[in-house]
Amino acid sequence: MARPLQTRRLRIGVIGGGIGGLAAALALSQRGFAVRVFEQSEALREVGAGVQMAPNATRVLRALGLEAPLHKIGFQPQAIVVRDWDDGREKRRTPLQDAGRRYGAAYYQVHRADLLEMIASALGDAQLELNARVAAVSSTPHGAAVTLDGGRQEAFDLVVGCDGIHSLVRRTLHGPQSPRFTGTMCWRALTPAEVFPSGFVAPEMTIWMGPLGHIVVYYVRGGRYVNMVAVRRSRAWVEESWSVPSSAPELSAAFPRVNADVRILLGRAQNAFKWGLFDRDPLPWWSRGRITLLGDAAHPMLPFLAQGAAMAIEDAFVLAQTLAGDDDVERALQRYEAARLPRTARVQLAARAQGEIFHLMSPFARLKRWFGLDRLAKPDPRLLDRDWLYEYDATACLPREA
Ligand SMILES: Cc1cc2nc3c(=O)[nH]c(=O)nc-3n(C[C@H](O)[C@H](O)[C@H](O)COP(=O)(O)OP(=O)(O)OC[C@H]3O[C@@H](n4cnc5c(N)ncnc54)[C@H](O)[C@@H]3O)c2cc1C
Repeated sequence: MARPLQTRRLRIGVIGGGIGGLAAALALSQRGFAVRVFEQSEALREVGAGVQMAPNATRVLRALGLEAPLHKIGFQPQAIVVRDWDDGREKRRTPLQDAGRRYGAAYYQVHRADLLEMIASALGDAQLELNARVAAVSSTPHGAAVTLDGGRQEAFDLVVGCDGIHSLVRRTLHGPQSPRFTGTMCWRALTPAEVFPSGFVAPEMTIWMGPLGHIVVYYVRGGRYVNMVAVRRSRAWVEESWSVPSSAPELSAAFPRVNADVRILLGRAQNAFKWGLFDRDPLPWWSRGRITLLGDAAHPMLPFLAQGAAMAIEDAFVLAQTLAGDDDVERALQRYEAARLPRTARVQLAARAQGEIFHLMSPFARLKRWFGLDRLAKPDPRLLDRDWLYEYDATACLPREA
């Protein structure tokens, strides 16, 4: 039996206006909650990079009413293709033209800024406050309070920490955590497509795999830009941020033994940046009193399954649904966590395992990888089997009475 809905409009403070925070604001305001978002930046902005929206994410975006605008901003890849960066040979192909039929929702690649803007423009009456850095959160007898830089305090019935990988809210709940350096460096680049010969970049998501690294290449902005993420083992590292500039010569030097096609991709890369990849274990819990976590603040993950933003979008929908279905906020938060924590922890750990598979060194280990990829009728989930990820339906993961 569905519980009666809140009689008073619940006031919810969302900390962070990234993909997770805005998706939460949208889902919550669609359910009738009074939402206020605090974002520290002066403007809503995302880095100039691509993001893949797999069917598990696009299914939620559709439920939030964003199918048409997503189709407008997205590029639909024809396949996920795995190639060896030594000789360029194709090792595995997962067609995606039929993703809509196979998974019940389409697969898109989008520019992160376009995705953020798309969600922001659907926000309706959710209030967004920019230039609003939250300095502290605390529990109050019947809710939670947010203290902004400068000392202003705002009281809410519930506060949701969507403040990303360096989350203040997670630190408040769990104390400081020490992320582990994975021994892996990452580069991203966003290059106008016309820089490459016509037809050179296939309309696919290509994963070039090598010893100790891999490179992911795909189109965004309707095929006008080529997004690249390149990862390799490295003892040296730079900070965990997206903003340290790099360059095509540096990229080429970091990946010296690749085939001619990959050399062209690296050698003509533009808008390149680099950072070190750090890993954290799944948290044992996310909520205390009327404060909870969502997105990277709750479950930062390595990018090897391209699912961090997708998980944040799934969280957003489920949080709104649990709160709308229960007049006891703390009980709703426990149900939110019970629905989301096992799924996101599995994805965090699977992303970690995927990195190990991607970056195998020995020729024998690589042979075994290809054997696994090519031959196993029901591959180990670590070997690029994404069905369990893509088939998941966050819009239907709660029991009916929710
Ligand atoms: C190389 C790479 C590739 C990736 N590719 C994919 C992909 O293809 N698909 C996918 O689904 N995911 C991908 N991800 C993961 C995805 O980028 C993240 O999981 C996602 O952006 C997290 O969103 P978020 O809103 O939780 O956090 P963030 O995007 O980090 O947003 C947090 C926001 O909170 C704000 N904030 C922080 N502290 C405060 C404060 N104290 N007060 C006010 N505001 C604050 C920040 O300014 C920011 O706007 C990738 C990640 C990497 C590194």
